[in-house]
Amino acid sequence: MWIDSHAHLFDSSDNELSLIVDEATGTGVDAIVSTATDIINARQVIHHCENYSQLWGAVGISPFDVTDLPATWFDDLCSLLDHPKIIAVGETGIDATNPRYPPLSLQRPVFEQQLIAARDRQLPIIIHSRGAEKETAGLCRANGIVFAMFHCFTGDHRSLRAILDNGYYVSLSGIVTFPRSELRDLIRNIPIERLLIETDSPYLAPVPHRGKKNRPALVRFVGEEIARLLGKPSGQIGRQIQENFARLFQKYRPAAEPSPH
Ligand SMILES: [Zn+2]
Repeated sequence: MWIDSHAHLFDSSDNELSLIVDEATGTGVDAIVSTATDIINARQVIHHCENYSQLWGAVGISPFDVTDLPATWFDDLCSLLDHPKIIAVGETGIDATNPRYPPLSLQRPVFEQQLIAARDRQLPIIIHSRGAEKETAGLCRANGIVFAMFHCFTGDHRSLRAILDNGYYVSLSGIVTFPRSELRDLIRNIPIERLLIETDSPYLAPVPHRGKKNRPALVRFVGEEIARLLGKPSGQIGRQIQENFARLFQKYRPAAEPSPH
């Protein structure tokens, strides 16, 4: 009943991945978006998605990987986007929180080119945005993007408005389970039909596993905490997230129900 909308599994060996996917399935995770950050791990994402029906992929260049891109990166990316299990462009975006990150003058054009690739294929885009939600949402809008998910949202009211007013989706990670997180109040301002959840594995493990290596099986702790905060049954939150996910990621096909004998 749960969907992990954002996980980085590309560093896992075939053996590790099989354990990760089995464990997730055993805790009720129906689908996981295996997310790339550069062209090399994008190929790994595709390889993994071909081996597991539960894995769907997103390929893109993250704001941390925009330096020293090969000249062919855009064509390479575009050819990967046509794969049937690649359901989104990403992660990509802008991170303006640290001067040691790649310069914004480099982050911006690489982000914008990926917006164009997404728009031309009518694919949703998975955005990493820190300290730049107004700008990233505005660039999405200006480039004709209809569907976008702002992953691991940690912004304030104003950034939330910039995302919602443009019709985009918000994905919450394990941060919402951290006792001092402002997201615990902010969540009431997110319309339930625009909400998704994720682990951002291997980072940001939710309470009660905080500090350990994260994995998709733990996404239910995010979903259950959100249900508690909103005073709703977790089954209802799980179903709503599945609906939202299918509306946003239109190449996604849920696994068929087992047919009765
Ligand atoms: Zn990520």
